[in-house]
Amino acid sequence: MNELNTKITVARGDGIGPEIMDATLRILDAAGARLDIEYIDIGERVYLAGNTSGIATEAWDSLRRTKVFLKAPITTPQGGGFKSLNVTVRKTLGLYANVRPCVSYHPFVDTKHPIMDMVIVRENEEDLYAGIEHRQTRQVYQCLKLITRPGCEKIVRYAFEYARQHNRKKVTCFTKDNIMKMTDGLFHKVFDEIAAEYPQIENEHWIVDIGAAKLADTPEKFDVVVMPNLYGDILSDVAAQITGSVGLAGSANIGEHVAMFEAIHGSAPDIAGRNIANPSGLLHGAIMMLVHIGQPRVAETVHNAWLRTIEDGIHTPDIYKEGISSRSVGTGEFAAAVIERLGRSPEKLRSAEYPDSGESISTVYTPSTDGRSIRKETIGVDIFLEWSGGTPDDLGHILQAVNSCGLKLQMITNRGVKVFPGGMPETFCTDHWRCRFLATNVGTRVSTAQIVDLLSRVDAVGLDFIKLETLCTFDGEPGYSLGQGQ
Ligand code: NAD
Repeated sequence: MNELNTKITVARGDGIGPEIMDATLRILDAAGARLDIEYIDIGERVYLAGNTSGIATEAWDSLRRTKVFLKAPITTPQGGGFKSLNVTVRKTLGLYANVRPCVSYHPFVDTKHPIMDMVIVRENEEDLYAGIEHRQTRQVYQCLKLITRPGCEKIVRYAFEYARQHNRKKVTCFTKDNIMKMTDGLFHKVFDEIAAEYPQIENEHWIVDIGAAKLADTPEKFDVVVMPNLYGDILSDVAAQITGSVGLAGSANIGEHVAMFEAIHGSAPDIAGRNIANPSGLLHGAIMMLVHIGQPRVAETVHNAWLRTIEDGIHTPDIYKEGISSRSVGTGEFAAAVIERLGRSPEKLRSAEYPDSGESISTVYTPSTDGRSIRKETIGVDIFLEWSGGTPDDLGHILQAVNSCGLKLQMITNRGVKVFPGGMPETFCTDHWRCRFLATNVGTRVSTAQIVDLLSRVDAVGLDFIKLETLCTFDGEPGYSLGQGQ
């Protein structure tokens, strides 16, 4: 082992993974990247060998030793089967910031958006990707959306620090806080709080639906865009695709201890093994890795040779276009063309330049508030039932009869819509009912013993409760949403 080399862990992945990883590593090697590589096996083969996590203990050991991971895409079963290993790795290693630059290379790559240079900063650990799902009743399934204050503070601060360090002018936030007022509402609130600390950087917020439409229509108006996990996952594919191909963009997953670099696209099983995949996305991930590990000159050399290759019209089939491209090449030939151009720079496209200092964004989290000083009081409970015994009024009357422990039924909702008291006959009801009980003397504290007593009374009348959520106030503010129509 050479002392000057940086140890990294590499996984060749599934589908097109091995092809694009081989191409990428050939380019890095030819460019003089100083790397000592530990290979690990993760993904489909590991699942099929009986390890349901998709990653073996030795692979974790390698990641924790090297702290730098270059990962090719892996296949995740859809609909059922094993949990996503990508999500497992990101969350287990605390890789909270997923940075996805999406740039168009007009006129050398065909795109409807000639001016586009945006960076999507996607929250990487929370939201619906907590992956906590339950079948609650015969008819109803649930996925928990978790948004935390530390998670929001970490990602939003990262986005502003990224903008400051990269001399970006604006940070935009997308949420759906008109509907999800508490979860997305928190993300937006934290965005506003942290934005105020960066007066030199413009900030704006869009509700994600219109924001997404604008991003797809006028991407040139965006600079850095920060968003919760699911929106970021979807919209970074959109952004990459409209630059010309999803195969062009790379991504960095940054945490306090470890960082992982990859392409934003998946394992593309439809084109695997055919030597036609574009290795550019993974190569861009590798360029970000070189900057991260303090080899910015090598990153520059690789990036500029890549830009020159694109400029020379040497294109893989996903971006090949008659009249723009000069030659259609396979994955291996593309890598060879980049290697041939090492040491050269693009003539028209802007050359890549990376500062000697590399990345210097602090990833250590310092909480902005001390959560322990917040006063929390339980004032009621939502009991969820599976029931198909009649109308909402029937259920309401049964539950009104069990109000004898200092808690009183306030309302019943079905899929969030108030159906009792005073529901409408047009409302479609499933077998999943949320029954809200508050203290008889509304606003006063409710004890655990009262809730347990209520549950046993609900059970005693033969109702099937599936979960409960306590209703709390935090410094006097309700920590729960109203029913729709309440
Ligand atoms: P995908 O990104 O693999 O493919 C979508 C489309 O883009 C396909 O038509 C594919 O041929 C094309 N494409 C993707 N990368 C390309 C490249 N480098 N060059 C040329 N064309 C390319 O998305 P998918 O089909 O939805 O997912 C396939 C598998 O990948 C699934 O199992 C999914 O879970 C997994 N996936 C993994 C990651 C990851 O490892 N980070 C990310 C996304 C999806």
